[in-house]
Amino acid sequence: MHSFAYRNESLHCENVNLADIARAVGTPTFVYSKKTITDNLAAFRKALAPLDAHVAYAVKACSSKAILQLMAQQGAGFDIVSGGELWRIINAGGDPTLCTYAGVGKTEAEIRYALEKGIYCFNCESEEELRAIDRIAGSMGMKAPVAVRVNPNVDAHTHKYITTGTNENKFGVDITRIEQLYATMAAEMPNLHIKGLQMHIGSQLTEVQPFVMAIEKVAPIAKKFKELYGIEFWSIGGGVGIIYDGCLASGSPEWWQQHPEQMTIESYAAAIIPLLQPLGLRILVEPGRRIVGNAAAMLTTCLYEKKGEAKCFKIIDAGMNDIIRPALYEGYHEIWPVQQHHGDTITADVVGPVCESGDFQAQNREIADVKPGEVLAEMSAGAYGFSMSSTYNSRPLAAEVLVDGDKWQVIRRRQTLEEIICGEEGLD
Ligand SMILES: *Cc1c(COP(=O)(O)O)cnc(C)c1O
Repeated sequence: MHSFAYRNESLHCENVNLADIARAVGTPTFVYSKKTITDNLAAFRKALAPLDAHVAYAVKACSSKAILQLMAQQGAGFDIVSGGELWRIINAGGDPTLCTYAGVGKTEAEIRYALEKGIYCFNCESEEELRAIDRIAGSMGMKAPVAVRVNPNVDAHTHKYITTGTNENKFGVDITRIEQLYATMAAEMPNLHIKGLQMHIGSQLTEVQPFVMAIEKVAPIAKKFKELYGIEFWSIGGGVGIIYDGCLASGSPEWWQQHPEQMTIESYAAAIIPLLQPLGLRILVEPGRRIVGNAAAMLTTCLYEKKGEAKCFKIIDAGMNDIIRPALYEGYHEIWPVQQHHGDTITADVVGPVCESGDFQAQNREIADVKPGEVLAEMSAGAYGFSMSSTYNSRPLAAEVLVDGDKWQVIRRRQTLEEIICGEEGLD
């Protein structure tokens, strides 16, 4: 469910006409629905209520200040992957003691910073990293809270670039070695407090079976670690997928009734709760995409139409620097005209102004036959959208807007050219 729908022939976010935002702020602009974000967070909490469950929002999905403030206001924790993200949480008024810190390449400076701020736990990915944290904590006269990410070797059935839980990728410690590693930690690393166990098998999962299989595989280990080391939590990661193809339609409850096969937050929770409840551990979930993904659309303007021999191109004012998902992992985003069309469709490539053949948002897509000047909405743009954007081709970062009922506010003004080069030094 989300809050984007046509009303009186014009696409709205909650009660705000997207055409009004495009007129006032220009394009490209990301527009977020506050209601969708808070509803999604609340849905995780409600569905997992039978457990001692805590949501640690995966900050990398969308790390803009106002979005983080929204999460902090609702009492969410945060799963971070860099010192920069920890800084953002603190800057947004979030609580560092609710942060778990993941990632394979934490630097010494980042580890020190996280220890100083008193984060909840480091989620670690290798013995070398554990030894580094042990040494650094020791030098600071502290004990560092740690968990290790176990790789359960389960295929998440998702795109190869976003599967993380098989033994062929860089993440985690193989399930066959995890028990030995915990024993080594307990015996040889006195400055670590073994606080939990972690896993995360991939992103954009669309079925519950891989989650269930991974939990079934790892649960006996979690149980054992509770007995042996007194761990207090098990983080089962994020990865719950969203609707990309069918996004606009999935804004209505009827669509969900007609698609009972689709995984929901409720069906995900119902499948895993019975496996987790007997453990008596605190369960952390780290959703990113499922909280913010369908909560935003990116507004973009059609600049030109180019009809070649073999293809029709609709050239828009947003590029792969604004949303890189199609280029990076064949991401699919629905594209709708803000002013509704009726029946006039065309098969086209929707491409941006960036000088790369990979700069497309859609290929061979049947879309409304929009004309130059018309505003389009690229759906499901909230996760790994703005947060992955860059200034490639010296294109300013897009603006961001948060809608709340019939009000809206700019939460990031469009970057200026001066800001793009801020920090650059000319020749002496
Ligand atoms: C990226 C990431 C997540 C969030 O994944 P989503 O698919 O956005 O839910 C959670 N945990 C870890 C460790 C991650 O790296």
